[in-house]
Amino acid sequence: MIPVHAYKGRRVAVFGLGRTGIAAARALAAGGAQVSAWDDNEAAREAAIKAGLELDDLNRRDWGDMAALVLSPGIPLTHPAPHRMVGLAQAVGAPVIGDMELFAQAIADVPGVTVIGITGTNGKSTTTALIGHILKAAGKDVHVGGNIGEAVLTLAPPRPGAVYVLELSSYQLDLTHSLRCQIALFLNLTPDHIDRHGDMEGYLAAKTRIFANQAPDDLAIVGVDDTPSAGLCTRLKAEHGRKVIPVSSQRLVGYGVYALAGKLYDDTGGGGARMVMDLARAPALPGQHNAQNAAAAYAAVRQLGISVTDAVAGIASFPGLPHRQERVGEAGSLLFINDSKATNAEAAAQALGCYHDIFWIAGGQAKKGGIESLAPFFRRIRKAYLIGQDAGLLQKQLGRSVDSEISGTLETALQHAAADAADSGLRRPVVLLSPACASFDQFKSYEHRGDVFRQAVKDLLKRAMEGSAA
Ligand code: ADP
Repeated sequence: MIPVHAYKGRRVAVFGLGRTGIAAARALAAGGAQVSAWDDNEAAREAAIKAGLELDDLNRRDWGDMAALVLSPGIPLTHPAPHRMVGLAQAVGAPVIGDMELFAQAIADVPGVTVIGITGTNGKSTTTALIGHILKAAGKDVHVGGNIGEAVLTLAPPRPGAVYVLELSSYQLDLTHSLRCQIALFLNLTPDHIDRHGDMEGYLAAKTRIFANQAPDDLAIVGVDDTPSAGLCTRLKAEHGRKVIPVSSQRLVGYGVYALAGKLYDDTGGGGARMVMDLARAPALPGQHNAQNAAAAYAAVRQLGISVTDAVAGIASFPGLPHRQERVGEAGSLLFINDSKATNAEAAAQALGCYHDIFWIAGGQAKKGGIESLAPFFRRIRKAYLIGQDAGLLQKQLGRSVDSEISGTLETALQHAAADAADSGLRRPVVLLSPACASFDQFKSYEHRGDVFRQAVKDLLKRAMEGSAA
């Protein structure tokens, strides 16, 4: 745990007792603060008590002595309307902050600590984990957390030489004011979470906070494959004394790192672009979207002095993250892929673009527009196996261009898809779970959906082995 001493002897309100809230309350108490922790949800309160916290109903107490409000990132700060707690804090002049701000305060005085922050609409977790993996393999004292895995304040306390690789959501950045990222990565920006930030400008503003507090030697790495991000890159470059590396997986970018036709190029050295890697060597990072993640991660670790050889070796040996085009089984030439994290059509498009003969399992709770935008990929789909609440809608949108069935459950869909794929005689058939829908009608979460799929594939392959051995 990283104790936070900045509020020693003072009282701090912690509202929202999930993973980050509980960690914040503990870190504050360990640093000598008096903590008033509360959550309006009874189950969350019970979990907090089990975790050893004392509760203090923030709805009823006097706020006169409150030095700060630590808000859980999921709670509305400004849009659609500020949460009641935000108003209570503002009325007494207490700043509203998040756990990441507490982290920034806790490490501010420790020399020799490096923070790498990663934000963007898509690819944050993959890029964060990838950077952590490369640095670990290269022998760095590295800690990975934030929006991925562990809450930042539960990571090991800072020592000189430590590197913190932090995934930062726009919600977290909204609540962070003094964090200095020696290396800040901004991957991409597409409309998402607009409800929370008001509009695209607000969303962009929140994400660009990742560059606030950077010093002249610090580095900004910016994906330039969408219009708002490309504009941001141009603006940053125009700022006097800023070091900026543009990154692309679609085109050549001068003085940047980019991927073209499956190869990674480094043009940051001044001596002209140099091909550093064939991305086919990184099986856990398929597709153009992952080429962007690899390029961004490469630029980040090079800044830390990691050699080209070690950077490339780390990208090649990255095992990938669960539920993101995760290979969960193979039977001869037939491949099973778990892409349960694709909870909308845009994310599913990334996986559909990677394979040619797809037996596609999709469905659940459809997002606005359903799968209309996936029409360009329909010709890659040999058959669709539809599950969950909106299976009918998806079948209608697939129309006559794609053979489909309403399988109902994930288990049935897998059985039918595996049997058809095995009988297809195709060279490299792929059974792909990339649902393009939310999971909550049939599962607890996308992780749960992916775990069920992984296990079902394992069981299926085991039965097939036993069958062929008998
Ligand atoms: P995040 O943490 O930002 O949600 P993840 O790394 O978990 O991102 O990836 C989630 C999904 O987003 C992936 O399954 C993939 O479909 C898509 N994705 C990943 N990286 C990118 C990228 N650089 N650009 C566009 N889409 C991406």
